[in-house]
Amino acid sequence: MVSLGPVAATRHCSFRCPFCYVREPAFVRYKSWPVEADLEWVRTNLSQINVIYVSGDTDSFAPPRTGAGLSLLGALADLGRDLLFTTRHVFVRSEEWHELKGIAERVRSVGRNPIACVSVCQLSRPDLEPRPIAQPAVRIEQLGKLNAVGWTSVLAMRPIMPAFQLRTLSESFGLQYAT
Ligand code: SF4
Repeated sequence: MVSLGPVAATRHCSFRCPFCYVREPAFVRYKSWPVEADLEWVRTNLSQINVIYVSGDTDSFAPPRTGAGLSLLGALADLGRDLLFTTRHVFVRSEEWHELKGIAERVRSVGRNPIACVSVCQLSRPDLEPRPIAQPAVRIEQLGKLNAVGWTSVLAMRPIMPAFQLRTLSESFGLQYAT
């Protein structure tokens, strides 16, 4: 699993989900490397890697880093491995969709699987993930578009909530939960 890493020294993600697990002390953070260092590490260890997943400690496709996230994905697409990514971002620009289509084609051309996961935490409170994250229905619609340009698309209902995430939600929104 690789990512673009933190947006800044004091901020891990462009989005601000109130339930975000990355801020929790229990979350094991990645090393904060430049993209080239990530790529070099993956290339060096490729014989031990079957699946590459862009996800984890930030949303690598959240604006303003959408282009950088796609560049990372594109570089990983040429390594001959199954390639996954997860995002809450909704791609809007035709160039981005063109790039996504090309990446999926390159992964499939060597018999590997391109898999795109779109995260939605729930449906009953569509404002729980704050702007600029698009409404859950729009993100779910994106699954079909990703599938149409060659990705196997997956709805990722997350976070999958251990107690500390439920506690964060509870404190933020006064929700009740049972452990
Ligand atoms: S998109 Fe993911 S990493 Fe970013 S704030 Fe939301 S939960 Fe955290």
